[in-house]
Amino acid sequence: MTRLRNIETLSNLLRSVILLSPDDLLCCVYLCLNQLGPAYQGLELGVGETVLMKAVAQATGRQLDKIKAEAQEKGDLGLVAESSRSNQRMMFAPASLNAAGVFNKLKEIGNMSGNSAMNKKIDIIKGLFVACRFSEARFIVRSLAGKLRIGLAEQSVLAALSQAVCLTPPGQEFPPSVIDAGKGMSTESRRAWLEEKALILKQTYCEMPNYDVIIPVLVKEGIDQLPKHCKLTPGVPLRPMLAHPTKGVGEVMKRFDEAAFTCEYKYDGERAQIHILENGEVRIFSRNQEDNTSKYPDIISRIPQVKKESVRCCVLDTEAVAWDREKKQIQPFQVLTTRKRKDVDASEIKVQVCVYAFDLLYLNGESLVREPLSRRRALLKESFVEKEGEFVFARSLDSDNTDTIAEFLEQSVRDSCEGLMVKTLEKDATYEIAKRSHNWLKLKKDYLEGVGDTMDLCVIGAYLGKGKRAGSYGGFLLACYDEENEEFQSVCKIGTGFKDEDLEQHYNFLKEHILPKPRPYYRVDQSAEPDVWLDAVQVWEVKCADLSLSPVYKAAMGLVDSEKGISLRFPRFLHIREDKKPEDATTGAQVTSTPQNTGHTVHNTPQRQSFR
Ligand code: AMP
Repeated sequence: MTRLRNIETLSNLLRSVILLSPDDLLCCVYLCLNQLGPAYQGLELGVGETVLMKAVAQATGRQLDKIKAEAQEKGDLGLVAESSRSNQRMMFAPASLNAAGVFNKLKEIGNMSGNSAMNKKIDIIKGLFVACRFSEARFIVRSLAGKLRIGLAEQSVLAALSQAVCLTPPGQEFPPSVIDAGKGMSTESRRAWLEEKALILKQTYCEMPNYDVIIPVLVKEGIDQLPKHCKLTPGVPLRPMLAHPTKGVGEVMKRFDEAAFTCEYKYDGERAQIHILENGEVRIFSRNQEDNTSKYPDIISRIPQVKKESVRCCVLDTEAVAWDREKKQIQPFQVLTTRKRKDVDASEIKVQVCVYAFDLLYLNGESLVREPLSRRRALLKESFVEKEGEFVFARSLDSDNTDTIAEFLEQSVRDSCEGLMVKTLEKDATYEIAKRSHNWLKLKKDYLEGVGDTMDLCVIGAYLGKGKRAGSYGGFLLACYDEENEEFQSVCKIGTGFKDEDLEQHYNFLKEHILPKPRPYYRVDQSAEPDVWLDAVQVWEVKCADLSLSPVYKAAMGLVDSEKGISLRFPRFLHIREDKKPEDATTGAQVTSTPQNTGHTVHNTPQRQSFR
């Protein structure tokens, strides 16, 4: 269990920080996360790869070309930087680096703008670089490149942080009287205790995703006090609740059993979390907590007309959907994507949107996330009024009759929606973000057709074609992305679904990204090795009919079986996902959640396919 070991290692580091230098806890956490501040504030380094290479070249006295070639070969500029450090002795050795110093320099880089910013950034990087010792250059450069690859995603950092403050509560005298607060507990009760505390931190973080606020409270008041001090706050985006896929109405009925539930239209637009602040300001955040306020001046201007007097401040969960005003109908998602993303001028808007409100998470100083959906929905309807084509409540049906639901699903598709969202109303009906809950299920029209789910997978290799496909690639090796280990895990070979033009386009594009050998962070079994390795640069949407447990493929290894991974059966290429980065590919965990939640059977026989 690498994940658990990594968490343990990080928590030990953080425990030392708590004892020896508690003021550094915040910057250590940010450094581990490779972030300069709360993600929603969007402060970024703004250092491109070329600039970084330039800085490395200048600091080491090596030629830029050489650095570039070596980075391409090794796939990691950090390693190149580490091995390029000059052995020249300096007259005055610069002071050694420390966590706060490095973090502040990184922040300084992020805050720079204006004309000569790039040169100033390069100077700071060079300054950091000359002070590096041992392997520091590797990690500084990786941080600057945004690819730290320490094998810890945010959820693991949160687990490590809570473990650290539980075992080594801050504020102890040194030498501490309590070194391990969990000592004496049985393994089982220690694990349960740590998990329970981790959930407090994770839940708090979902509602207040800002370590600048959370860590001082953790250090001063302790983990149990977090919910009292760090609350959902209008203006700070919270992580949105997500839904699990299901295969059909039958499965929904089985899952929700006796519990009351509602079915809502699943609108095909963009999630919009609308915050109305006490001072009247309105902010809109995306599903990834990006600030979309300047994208939607039209939504902002209509809020006063749809909000009742009683509402001083609130947080709404909604979907913004492209809307044809003349025909009075919903337009496809693709239309919405043509809208400008930032600094939109209300008078220039061509694509109109209608807001479909489906939840209320905060109202007049009170967080509602622990309230059942029935109450949240009632408050939503009491607090707002509908306005056709501008602000409408998500259409819903509260019924437990299979035929009625199936009809509603058909209707939703006719009304240009993707299907239904099915949500519990009373029991287990809180707005759960930290736990993997099953309170929301999605029922998409795709599933109706009886075919499987789609996945977004990264191309990491290709097989040379034969026969009709001679001279280009005949098949490809696809991988999902494992966030925990920051690696690409092979998941299937694919050879169907391509038109001739697709194959030509892929060949011309991918041949520019051939690697001499696989990246160290590719997990591929020897028997599935492709003829050419490719850099992970492109994501494809792929439809699969089924999944199988496989000794060859590595997807989600350790999650379902300790030795075997999961592979896709009969994958078909749909299209390129230009909007997704390789790291946004479907994760191993998502691949595994598919069989459990869609009722797919995981077959135990590996499927062999040939594409030659
Ligand atoms: P998916 O992205 O397929 O996992 O579906 C979840 C997304 O559907 C959410 O993030 C929302 O953006 C969107 N959505 C559309 N209608 C609703 C609804 N009635 N309730 C919740 N989410 C919805």
